[in-house]
Amino acid sequence: MSRTVYVNGDYVPEEDAKISVFDRGFLFADGVYEVTSVLGGKLIDFEGHKVRLQRSLHELAMRAPVTMDELLEIHREMVRLNEIDDGLVYLQVTRGSGGDRDFVFPSDDTVPSLVLFTQSKPGITDSEASKTGIKIISIPDIRWGRRDIKTVQLLYPSMGKMMAKAAGVDDAWMVEDGFVTEGTSNNAYIVKGSKIITRHLGNEILAGITRAAVLRCAKEAQMEVEERSFTVDEAREADEAFVTSATTFVMPVVEIDGEPLGDGTPGRVARRLREIYLDESRKAAV
Ligand code: PMP
Repeated sequence: MSRTVYVNGDYVPEEDAKISVFDRGFLFADGVYEVTSVLGGKLIDFEGHKVRLQRSLHELAMRAPVTMDELLEIHREMVRLNEIDDGLVYLQVTRGSGGDRDFVFPSDDTVPSLVLFTQSKPGITDSEASKTGIKIISIPDIRWGRRDIKTVQLLYPSMGKMMAKAAGVDDAWMVEDGFVTEGTSNNAYIVKGSKIITRHLGNEILAGITRAAVLRCAKEAQMEVEERSFTVDEAREADEAFVTSATTFVMPVVEIDGEPLGDGTPGRVARRLREIYLDESRKAAV
């Protein structure tokens, strides 16, 4: 069945959706996005995604195409029209079309483009990967210097996933100046003893909405959290590792660069955090 997508004010069948070839998202990756997961027909961490979207827009001097209240209503309508029980809503805002290709930003009255679509993912919380854990490799981080802005420039993360695939594993962690920055589409963590270690926020990584929620859960459960950089060597010697993102929640990592972590099965801390995070998120879902 064809999905209903949202394009600049209209809910239309995906085959009928139209965006200009001069849209700056298409020509310059001049756009930002958010992915909000849906569990039981409700939006997870919507408030966090909304606030981060506003920040991304602000950092790029881009106008918001609709009010934030309207944005929530559009998300809900997309979930309703596409009958999403478990899955996600993808949202993208671009600077719109200046009517031609020009590196210089178009005038301030250019209308930004807003596109949303859904993906249905039945049973997303019980994925096979969450039970077995995922394997990763480390690769150099050669992305631009403003990774705190959630832009649609995803070519290198996409290449990173292809490098992982070619190596027969699931994903890659990126490394800069000897330290792990983050996963191709997730934040990275290691666990030593009972301490959870994850890189501090800054321009080098995306401030994950799941990261914020998971660290809040960890602190509420009296788990110790340290926000600092770590190396791949330190990760290889850790007791456990995991990643977080809106679509994978808390996902255990069981192998790094061909070496199993601990006994090669999902760790206790990761499993517990996943459970707590999913419980809390379902309760707070809108
Ligand atoms: N880092 C990167 C590079 C990402 O692409 C993502 C997911 N979009 C994340 C971290 C995790 O962010 P969130 O928890 O908000 O999905």
